Amino acid sequence: MANVPQEIAFVADLIYSAGEFRPGLALVCDAEGRVTSLVSVDHLTNQKRIRLANRAVLPGMLNAHSHAFQRVLRGRTEYRTSDRDSFWTWRELMYSAATRLSPEDVYDASRMAFLEMALGGITAVGEFHYLHHAPDGKPYDDPNLLAKEVIRAAGDVGLRIALLRVAYVRSGFKAEPNPRQTRFIESDAETYLKNLDGLATSVRSPTVREGNSRNDALADARASDTAWVGVAPHSVRAVPLDYLREVIGYANERDLKTHMHLAEQPAEVSACVEEYGRTPIALLESEGLLSDRFTAVHAIHVTPKAIASFAQTGAMVCACPTTERNLGDGVVPADEYLRNGVEISLGTDSHAQIDLFEESRELEYHLRLQKLERAVLGARTSSSASDTAAYLFDCATINGARSIGAPGGALEAGKPADFFTVDLNDPTIAGASSDDLLASIVFSASRAAVREVVVGGKPIVSEGQHLIQEEVIERFNELQKRLWS
Ligand SMILES: [Zn+2]
Repeated sequence: MANVPQEIAFVADLIYSAGEFRPGLALVCDAEGRVTSLVSVDHLTNQKRIRLANRAVLPGMLNAHSHAFQRVLRGRTEYRTSDRDSFWTWRELMYSAATRLSPEDVYDASRMAFLEMALGGITAVGEFHYLHHAPDGKPYDDPNLLAKEVIRAAGDVGLRIALLRVAYVRSGFKAEPNPRQTRFIESDAETYLKNLDGLATSVRSPTVREGNSRNDALADARASDTAWVGVAPHSVRAVPLDYLREVIGYANERDLKTHMHLAEQPAEVSACVEEYGRTPIALLESEGLLSDRFTAVHAIHVTPKAIASFAQTGAMVCACPTTERNLGDGVVPADEYLRNGVEISLGTDSHAQIDLFEESRELEYHLRLQKLERAVLGARTSSSASDTAAYLFDCATINGARSIGAPGGALEAGKPADFFTVDLNDPTIAGASSDDLLASIVFSASRAAVREVVVGGKPIVSEGQHLIQEEVIERFNELQKRLWS
């Protein structure tokens, strides 16, 4: 007789589900790593119990915008290179690293970034991947070699990954080609889509679920919930309109997510107006390219009118406040997006820091500094618990899952058992009651308060240590020495 795989019951002091922390519950998951129920500890039967003492369990966070290799830049761009340093001068420093990385380096840098994410309670990442070719601009024998190195890194760390494969064509409207962009460029949409299709085939789950009647690889790609693909036309600057139409049309037909940098810098908006007579949002909206599968990354330099028309399409925004403050990009008008019903996810983008608690609080704090007000994003209910914190935590979880098409985002039956714990005795949150614990975590917790991280029912971080932490850091230290000496 076959053994019936045993369920696991995670028993913690508090579990965050349906918008509140509840005591006395166990999170039960099956052998596939899916949540089967949240039940009272008294009602447990023969499940294997894992006691998480002095811990609160929260759903794993989703990092919706990452360029993993940029982890190598940390600390190396914090100086003045011209009379007026900006995003554009930073970009030249970033390119100087991007042009030098080997496939193995991309793997080591990505693993470092993903390790840091895991240690901070992140369980899935949307990787906006644009390094495609060898340093001389020639495609590798496998045109997806570097994308696969990034996916391998995520798998080895234990994160789920949406590989958002970037389309990049040109330096800009009427701009000379930039030789430092040759690793990114696929100049025709046909080549891009062929390579996207090849990547989708390689990440396809070996056991495609029944009921998926479509026979092509892209439709099946979503059947794997550990790695899947989406499309990412880099920006209106880097991808001309006809190419954009093909890529987004292709993605929509196959129900893939589309991510795109949008209105991060005023210069990008003015170049778009010069080329098309329309702002980036007006261009995409009037061309019918926005939908509920679309995420606009940054979306800072936009008008209230553009936000209102953007909202009609069901599209989302991904804000990256720690990068936006680091690069001097500006402030995401999250209050206007909230008022218009546009959902916001969060990303760590350039990895100046990797901490989604910090991204969450900065979304609110930037607005406080700008408007000289408090609780700017908190006006949506009259409840006395912190609706600001609840809103910000939803951005880091539920909205992130929707943005990248990940299966998690909440702890409820049928979802994967992706979660992290915080130590209730951590000095940054000690003394919180169950009513103000979420606000303590969102506004005040150090990343060090995260103690366990579980993805699909399997622990990847225990007592604040990742299973392969030492090796990942050692390899990354070697890479940094080689790159920068
Ligand atoms: Zn970005």
